[in-house]
Amino acid sequence: MRLQDQIVIVTGGGSGIGLAVVDRFISEGARIGILVKEEKHAGMLTDRFGDKVEVTVGDVRNFADNERVVAATLARFGKLDCFIGNAGIWDYMGSLEGQEADALSDNYQELFDINVKGYLLGAKAALPALRDSKGSMIFTASTSSYFTGGGGCLYVASKHAVLGLIRALAWELAPDIRVNGVAAGGTLTNLAGPKSAGMDTANMSEMPGIDKMIADMTPLEFPAQPEDHAGIFVLLASRQDGRYMTGSVILSDGGIGVGKRPPA
Ligand code: NAD
Repeated sequence: MRLQDQIVIVTGGGSGIGLAVVDRFISEGARIGILVKEEKHAGMLTDRFGDKVEVTVGDVRNFADNERVVAATLARFGKLDCFIGNAGIWDYMGSLEGQEADALSDNYQELFDINVKGYLLGAKAALPALRDSKGSMIFTASTSSYFTGGGGCLYVASKHAVLGLIRALAWELAPDIRVNGVAAGGTLTNLAGPKSAGMDTANMSEMPGIDKMIADMTPLEFPAQPEDHAGIFVLLASRQDGRYMTGSVILSDGGIGVGKRPPA
């Protein structure tokens, strides 16, 4: 019970890594406010976790929706200890050359609005409550925050921006609020793409050959499951175990960061 009585918000907590974090945090004693885009996720979360969650349906791109999840969480649980920015989309390896200029512009807008502005607006909405509690923020980063090959130019640029955001906020908000990240490697989830590219119903885990693509670029030679990253979020959220960490991003990447050995 490393998060006993901790109150946490998770964006995009209805599937994938966010859902694994919600599940693990509850088993560690936390209660969770969750912002989801899809009604079906809201029903599933309430059925599964009952009064341990407070679910708000909204879009991370709207400040008002971020304010609503904070207000609902405070009204239900009385305080906020940790904000986890996690909702995101992928670019399905879209190349600069392969996108017409107008499409590139539209895809950029949507992907950066969700992956970067969504984190900023969530942090902004959670800030007053986190100042009160001297809490923390955690953002889901990626191997694409450091390296190429896990996305196209838009996704890699957006996740590099997330790394900058984590560092800038850690600097700005110290000593009251710790700000850290988890840089996940290739993980089998339903990660979708931009609606502007007609990829909002795409599902990364159904991409032909995705298991092999991830295994081939990963020294541990297998794709992660969402649950594989959840304990790292616990470490960073824990007021005891994470007390001296801010501005840190922990790679949970199967070794992508050290690179693969060449074939013998
Ligand atoms: P996922 O699709 O299961 O989770 C993303 C969630 O964000 C979904 O529940 C989706 O509904 C929600 N979402 C998308 N747009 C939204 C919006 N505008 N407003 C509110 N919610 C919105 O996929 P995932 O892989 O669990 O993704 C979670 C995070 O992990 C993302 O930030 C992603 O970039 C990151 N990540 C994923 C991988 C991977 O290989 N799957 C690797 C590194 C980092």
